[in-house]
Amino acid sequence: MISMNEEDSKEKKYFIIDSTAVIHVMSKENLSDKSTMLIFPEILKNEMQSFQAETIFEALKTDNRIMFAEPTTHSIKKATSVAKKTNDISSLSEPDLQIIAIALDFPNSTVISDDNAIQNVCSHLEIPFKSYSFRIKTAREYFWKCTVCNQKYKSKQDTCIECGSPTKRLFVKKSSL
Ligand SMILES: [Zn+2]
Repeated sequence: MISMNEEDSKEKKYFIIDSTAVIHVMSKENLSDKSTMLIFPEILKNEMQSFQAETIFEALKTDNRIMFAEPTTHSIKKATSVAKKTNDISSLSEPDLQIIAIALDFPNSTVISDDNAIQNVCSHLEIPFKSYSFRIKTAREYFWKCTVCNQKYKSKQDTCIECGSPTKRLFVKKSSL
């Protein structure tokens, strides 16, 4: 966890960024605002080095506006438990969960991701999120339903326990965002 020094106490905006959204952030966000910090999960550090918008990335690095963070265990637990509740857990990778958990650790942060499972868990945790291509309109709770006998399952089932037919993932809308 990164400790806040006095300089950090003036309103900083933290963008916690999913690797799929990096390019969009670089082209669409106004990064000349020096109080904007970009945070990536430590686990994605190597992936980030092959990143295309290298010149901008380098510039931000010299300004110390790029950070790699590891979430606290407490936040990982919280993110995981909500993801289980909404049934997004099977669609979330380790870095995905870390992105959500890091957002819980940093006040004033916004998650940037095009992944709808990340967005959904964020909405349940009241974490602001942004997306440049796909954005869910309502918070969702997923369930699985047999395509033949209509049996419903709260957790992931590829085939129906009752009749062995394939299931389909569906969701109920919880609240509008
Ligand atoms: Zn069935």
